[in-house]
Amino acid sequence: MEHISRKSAREIELMRAAGRVVAEVHVLLSKLVEPGVTLLELDAAAEAHIRKRGASPTFKGYKGFPATLCVSVNEEVVHGIPSKRKLQSGDIVSIDCGATLDGYVGDSAVTLPIGDVSPAILDLLRTTEESLYRGIEAAVDGARLHDISYAIQRHIEPKGYGIVREYCGHGVGRRLHEAPQVPNYGLAGSGPRIRSGWCLALEPMVNLGTHEVVTLSDGWTVVTKDRRPSAHFEHSIAVTDHGPLILTDRREIQ
Ligand code: MG
Ligand code: MG
Repeated sequence: MEHISRKSAREIELMRAAGRVVAEVHVLLSKLVEPGVTLLELDAAAEAHIRKRGASPTFKGYKGFPATLCVSVNEEVVHGIPSKRKLQSGDIVSIDCGATLDGYVGDSAVTLPIGDVSPAILDLLRTTEESLYRGIEAAVDGARLHDISYAIQRHIEPKGYGIVREYCGHGVGRRLHEAPQVPNYGLAGSGPRIRSGWCLALEPMVNLGTHEVVTLSDGWTVVTKDRRPSAHFEHSIAVTDHGPLILTDRREIQ
């Protein structure tokens, strides 16, 4: 298996600074999303904030991706490209943002409801976000990697939702995607032993219907096969001797 790097306390501080920029973007965007706003307007606001903080948008140019944000609406799961599309009441929008500051990457995603969203879809959002926190709680030194996966799966499956298989969480650090891969389903007690200093991006992608997904002809946008809605929540975290530390925490940002 590919080497899993352990970050020093100093590196984790740098990861936290990068993560804070991403968290600030999410707080900013949560105030901008409303019916009528275009996805490109959100992207421009995100890029301006990242650059104002002296950081750079990690996704822009990554494998040729053209924008700062991945913005995925309704049945779009991940990797949606910002367009002139206007958000409407009843939509849900998944916003995934990466920022690189002083050589370290923060990566975080949220799914937001726009206006009046049906209770069934709000439950999908709530359950997916809860599963992320269950995964984070399992990310402790000495546990096994797939304890994280299992914690997420166990929270989702009783609802009958579909957990996306093709995409998963990942190590994060100087690069956006580092070892290990962190699936959102798996066997408790399996996988490598988790160590302090690991930095991971945990990111359940959960569909209201089938778990199956397809990629559109733009080569990027992933949608559910049955075109029912999908939710995505992600945090970058560090495993520390004192438990998991959320690097992209929004709770202390106004
Ligand atoms: Mg992400
Ligand atoms: Mg990620």
